[in-house]
Formats: sequence, structure tokens, C-alpha cells
Amino acid sequence: MTGILPYPNADAPSEELISRCVHCGLCLPTCPTFAVLGVEMDSPRGRIRLMKTVWEGRVSADAPAFAKHIGQCLDCRACETACPSGVEYGKLVEAARSQILAATTRSLGERGIRSAAFDWLLPHRRVLAVFARLSVTAKRLGVPRVLRATGLRGGARLAEMLELLPDSATMERLDTVIPASGPVRARVAMFSGCVMGSVFGGTNAATARVLARNGVEVHVIRPQTCCGALHAHAGERERARELARRNVAAFAGEEVDAIIVNAAGCGAAMKEYGWLLKDDTAWATRAAEFASRVRDATEFLGDLGLRAVPSPMRVRAAYDDPCHLLHGQRVREQPRALLAAIPGLEMVPLEEADWCCGSAGTYNVTQPELARTLLERKVANIEKTGADVVVTANPGCLMQIQSGLRRAGSRTRVVHLIDLLDEAYRAG
Ligand code: SF4
Ligand code: SF4
Repeated sequence: MTGILPYPNADAPSEELISRCVHCGLCLPTCPTFAVLGVEMDSPRGRIRLMKTVWEGRVSADAPAFAKHIGQCLDCRACETACPSGVEYGKLVEAARSQILAATTRSLGERGIRSAAFDWLLPHRRVLAVFARLSVTAKRLGVPRVLRATGLRGGARLAEMLELLPDSATMERLDTVIPASGPVRARVAMFSGCVMGSVFGGTNAATARVLARNGVEVHVIRPQTCCGALHAHAGERERARELARRNVAAFAGEEVDAIIVNAAGCGAAMKEYGWLLKDDTAWATRAAEFASRVRDATEFLGDLGLRAVPSPMRVRAAYDDPCHLLHGQRVREQPRALLAAIPGLEMVPLEEADWCCGSAGTYNVTQPELARTLLERKVANIEKTGADVVVTANPGCLMQIQSGLRRAGSRTRVVHLIDLLDEAYRAG
């Protein structure tokens, strides 16, 4: 992996994508950063206009204002859902981040942090698992309190990052094939993910169990790696491409009906591998074929329909849409249908369920104040529901919402939808 962009501006927002925006402003009411900051340049329309001025050469790609407003975007893609003109905002903002990265000189320290995260941690699940366990242990030993007591700004930020972590980290340990119960309805290959595989290994195991219980044979592919979503969100498109090629190669020989992923952010990125590798003649077709087979676990199960009836659960549940499932993949009905299939479960409506919780990849690390404001808004909405559990389907959302509820002293539990289904099955 080189980490060097071969053509510095090859990934910049194209005129074709920019020109689709007709500046109607219909997306503005759906934009969380516009709602909080009230600044046109922190709205989708304002950001696209900024990209246009850079494309026209009237503002330089390394201008601090460009980096600021593009950096403050969540990449939640709510504006994409709202846009009647079909503007592909997610592609635009990731392209702009790549353009900024190529145009800006980074300090040695920042390059070191990027390399540690993007080259050494995320693509290596075992290294990430050790790092996650050490971090969870530090959190449990009260290190965040000590860091805060130092009074240093860096200490407080590090403390917040540790507090985002769940109370335990479990590494995935699955057999290479999990046979279906009863007649086989489908065969799938499972994408494990870096954070899911090293922190939420229990959810991966639950995903395999729930699929198998519903007649799906699950294959676990070993040489796979991180999906590259966080790399792409941070403008590191060349690093993301390298990971995408490795995943396309890893799943190439699998004769399966779908590639299943249970992290919304990963699924959205993998469904766009064709776009990511479109200019790579050796990989473009294979990447597009791979992308066409990717399905979120809730999407796949919702479409397939549950064959096994879950046991009753007497809980009030609110569903919070992960942005990259709802806006990035347009999956809305299937998760709700799965929840409705649990007897006894009472669904309660959650206001602004389609709004970002502030997690947004690494947003809660790079933009902590804005992320906290959005999280407090999400927690207030959750508390109004009186729900016992908040259900979602993405690791970032799980950690972010759980940390917000914990800080608010709430007893509401946050759970991955597949874990809840698994609990219902196991209770029976
Ligand atoms: S992104 Fe779409 S909705 Fe927003 S201003 Fe442009 S055309 Fe209108
Ligand atoms: S991606 Fe989200 S935060 Fe960014 S402009 Fe669109 S709605 Fe606003």
C-alpha cells in the first residue's frame, strides 16, 4: 500500500457531478449541520457551490475555508435522499476531501497518525483487536477520569474517545461454514469487517446464527480485510482502492447469492466499489460485479422473510436509521419489517430517526463539539419515546448513542437489530 495519490486531482469533484445541483435548496431542511450552524456554507447547497468555485479555479483547493466547511459535513447523505435532481452528494464530498488531502501539506505528526490508523490498525483485524482490548481495559480502569484531571485539551479529547467504546470487545471466531437449519434457501458469504470483527465479534456470530436459523448457509471468507469506508470518508481514496481490490479478490471464487454485511457504513462503501475502481481497467468490472452482490444483513433477511418465528419479547423499541443504511443504501422498510416480526415487541416512533447521531465515521473524533451537539439532540429524542431499547445497525451508531445515553444517566439499552433477533430466537 503506497498511500500516494498517483494523479493528485484525479479524484476531485467532477463538473458532471457538480452541475447536477440546481441550487433549489430543497435539501437544506434535512441537513443536520445546517440546522445546528445556520450557515449556508455548512449546507449541501453551499458546499456544492464551494466545490464549484474550486473547480472554476476561483478558490484554491488548499483554502482553509474549503477544508473547514467540507470537514464539518457529516457525509450522512440525508441531502441525497431529499434531492429531487439526483445529486450524488456522497461522491462529491468524498471527492472534495480527496482533493483537499492532495492539495494540502500535512505535518509529520498528522501523517503518522493517518498511517497508523489507515495502514496499520484498520486493515489488520488482530492488531485492531489488541488495540481495542487495551483501550476498553483503560476505560474500565478509569483512565478517562485521570485524563480529564490533567486539565489538558488533548487529555479531555482522548477521554471522550475512550468513553465511546463499549464495555467489552469481542473478536469474531466463526467456523468457515455455518450450515443452514433445514432446507437451504440461500448461500451467502459473510463480510466480517474490521471494527465488527474485532470489537463486535458477538454480533457477527449472531448474524451467522440468525441467517442459518432461517435456512441460509453462511461462508466466512478468511483473507478479506477492512472495507475502506473510513479511508474514503477521510479522502484517502488510493488507500481505499487498495483495500477494495483485496476484498474483491478474496470473494472472487465464491458461488453465493449475496455478500452479507452487518455494518451500514461498510455496506454503503462496498456497494460503491464499482465507482471507486471505475478508472482501473484491470478491476472495474470485477469490482462492479462484487458490489452488485453486497446486501446488508437486515436488507437480505427482510427481503427473504423469516422462516423461523422469533420468541415473544415484551419490550418497547425505537428504531434509529443508520445514515449509511437509509441514505447510503436506501434500506428503510426491511429493518422495520424484521422488528415487526418479533411477537410482543412494541415499536415506538422516534423523532428524527433519519438524522445522524454525530458518529459519522470518524466525525466524533475530528469534530467533537458538533458531534456532541447532534448526539445530545438524538438522546433527547430517544428519551421522549420511553423506549426500553434503541435498535440500530451500525457499530459507529451503537457506540455513539450508547455513550450519549450513558452520559445522560439513561437506562435505555442500545442494540444491533440482528443481536435483538438473535436474543429473541435464543430465548425460545
Ligand atoms: S443538492 Fe439537490 S436539493 Fe440540494 S440544492 Fe442541489 S439540487 Fe437542490
Ligand atoms: S451529507 Fe449530511 S451534513 Fe453533509 S451536507 Fe448532506 S445532509 Fe448536510
